[in-house]
Amino acid sequence: MRRSPLRTTFALAAAALAVVACDRSPSGLDSEVEIAEIIIAERGTRNAVAYSHHDHWHGVLRLELGDAAEYTIYFLDEPMGVADHSLPDSSLWIELPSQGGYALQGVVEDGAVATWTGGAGDGRLSALSEGGTHVSFVVLKGGTTIYQAPPLGLAVTP
Ligand SMILES: [Zn+2]
Repeated sequence: MRRSPLRTTFALAAAALAVVACDRSPSGLDSEVEIAEIIIAERGTRNAVAYSHHDHWHGVLRLELGDAAEYTIYFLDEPMGVADHSLPDSSLWIELPSQGGYALQGVVEDGAVATWTGGAGDGRLSALSEGGTHVSFVVLKGGTTIYQAPPLGLAVTP
């Protein structure tokens, strides 16, 4: 028995819908993203300063006393391979959706050493005193934590 072209088209469309449905979260919102990794890049150049990899970071934040640095923050929506420690290709970097109530918080463990200020896609780190500490990054959606990065090392040198 031959399948009519119409039936074939219907079957392909149904298959495509099934794939899309699998990709969607249960709420079906287009702006729904999962955050798996975070990348801190120099603002303007997209040079990665540090990137998370599962439970650790590659790179640290370094500042000289009295300096400030500005960053653009990118994310990966899928985790890197456990054994793949290299910087993920920049074509995979995404920004937090502007819709959907996403927010990024950066908290410096020792606030006497440095402060982090910024929004969902950028940040400014200001060095206040010499020393070492960590910065914790958390991604929130509607006030609920959906991603927490491991603590990122931060050094302020004279
Ligand atoms: Zn690694």
